Amino acid sequence: MRPPLIHKDLTALALPPNAALGWDEARRMLDGLPGGGLNIAWEAVERHARGALADRVAIRWHPVAGNVRPITYRELSEASSRFANVLRSLGVAKGDAVFVLCGRIPDLYFAVLGGLKLGAAVSPLFSAFGPEPIATRVNMGRGKVLVTTEALYQRKIAKIAVPMPTLEHVLRVDTPEFRATLAAASPQCEVERTGPEDTSFLHFTSGTTGMPKGAVHVHGAVVMHYATGRVALDLHPEDVFWCTADPGWVTGTSYGIVTPLVHGVTSIVDEADFDAVRWYRILEEERVSVWYTAPTAIRMLMKAGAELAKRHSLPSLRFVASVGEPLNPEAVWWGMDALGMPIHDNWWQTETGGIMIANTPALDVKPGSMGKPLPGVEAAIVHRGEAGLEVVAANDTEGELALRAGWPSMFRGYLDQEERYRKCFADGWYFTGDLAKRDADGYFWFVGRADDVIKSAGHLIGPFEVESALMEHPAVAEAGVIGKPDPVVGEIVKAFVSLRSGFQPGEELKMEILGHARKRLGAAVAPKEIEFSASLPRTRSGKIMRRLLKARELGLPEGDTSTLEESA
Ligand code: ATP
Ligand code: MG
Repeated sequence: MRPPLIHKDLTALALPPNAALGWDEARRMLDGLPGGGLNIAWEAVERHARGALADRVAIRWHPVAGNVRPITYRELSEASSRFANVLRSLGVAKGDAVFVLCGRIPDLYFAVLGGLKLGAAVSPLFSAFGPEPIATRVNMGRGKVLVTTEALYQRKIAKIAVPMPTLEHVLRVDTPEFRATLAAASPQCEVERTGPEDTSFLHFTSGTTGMPKGAVHVHGAVVMHYATGRVALDLHPEDVFWCTADPGWVTGTSYGIVTPLVHGVTSIVDEADFDAVRWYRILEEERVSVWYTAPTAIRMLMKAGAELAKRHSLPSLRFVASVGEPLNPEAVWWGMDALGMPIHDNWWQTETGGIMIANTPALDVKPGSMGKPLPGVEAAIVHRGEAGLEVVAANDTEGELALRAGWPSMFRGYLDQEERYRKCFADGWYFTGDLAKRDADGYFWFVGRADDVIKSAGHLIGPFEVESALMEHPAVAEAGVIGKPDPVVGEIVKAFVSLRSGFQPGEELKMEILGHARKRLGAAVAPKEIEFSASLPRTRSGKIMRRLLKARELGLPEGDTSTLEESA
């Protein structure tokens, strides 16, 4: 028997639940620039540094080795202003592109916020990228300045073989010369008069389905970040918030930098990579109250076992959310068992800039569902075909997930792909490329990427449903499901499975898992083949790359692998 799925009881914490918040209201809760305009860095840092929160800790940085470094809003303001002034002295002006490749160190946050103060288009890059992917992105974004560290310069930038014609400066933040330049710069800086439509960030997609795309974002997105921080992440003034994503992905910027700072809460930044023991220690020691992570991390914690979680005392933890991939119901239940609360799945993408659909604290969690559209977000299931666009009225019908265009954090273009951008929109809708369905209560259920859906003997099969059923089996840690071409039925369902610690691959276990899947899904939908694999190929942002599983299965070229995590 499952325990009842309930939110953590907040009465003891005496926290008023956050009410729904429309965008106009969210905009009114922001300051705007003195004299008019909107700038993310002003909302995230300057207004706090000049007000009552100046001495509050904005960021608590956990280095790989050494002591935690607290950074107050005032310090964050001064350090980012120094950065802005140095960039300005190098000729960086509004609209110029600044790339930041630093790893999760304080200078990354200073450089990003400094760039925003100047009105630059800022692009944080994931530090594990190799030389080629870095150059590709800098060139796509017409980077003028690249901010990096000495070590990353030696390991990556120095090895770039292709020209980067727009790049004028490479700054190595930890060299004595650059430290001296920063120290000599003024800690005050006038914030550029940007408006809601001015470019703020360039974000690259995860490359799960193909070559990563560069999405252009604007300062107006901060309205969405404020609103979703309240409604979807339940941020309250005293919260300690930890978003585990790297700022090289949109989640690590929108919710690892902007949202917590805009709310004036304390945000945890961990320089190190995933480590179950370390993570529980940080959650406990820092008294993290709101935690935003990803299914891949949760699956790794599940692999490490609920016992490890229970060895830690997490009385401050109140709300846990997840994004990036479908969250299998098993993971939601694991949250109840290991953390004493469900994990709240939410859905969005690089293009949407912020959370669009979520299991919020105000809703009952439906395990396996990504939740309901947030206030102000209109989502629909649509069919696009020869006959045009049909908005599907019926519930429980699969189709493409579409969003009514016009939310504040909507992307404003794909770098170098104007036509592709245009094709994402029609009749006032934005088409997400994801398949989903809506139930009678208005909850949305993820079916799969449009590209990943399997057509078998006349059925359309979403890989997520199959993967979730496989994960219910106690031996299964992770599953990735693809369609394998078959002369008779079109495609058969093939599953790649990695096992939890303590289980050994073997014929008997395979038959047992197949039997379980057949019982759960029926013979038509259950996998016909299972292959055990020590790990599954994933993107650096943690998503299973089904296109690689498929290419490898069929012996086809792997395509762009710039975002593939190396260990896979
Ligand atoms: P690319 O567009 O380059 O193939 P990507 O789509 O993985 O990569 P992101 O923008 O980082 O790049 O990811 C957004 C996608 O991740 C969504 O379109 C969706 O497919 C998936 N996703 C995110 N959150 C969820 C969720 N809660 N449930 C299901 N899928 C999700
Ligand atoms: Mg995508």
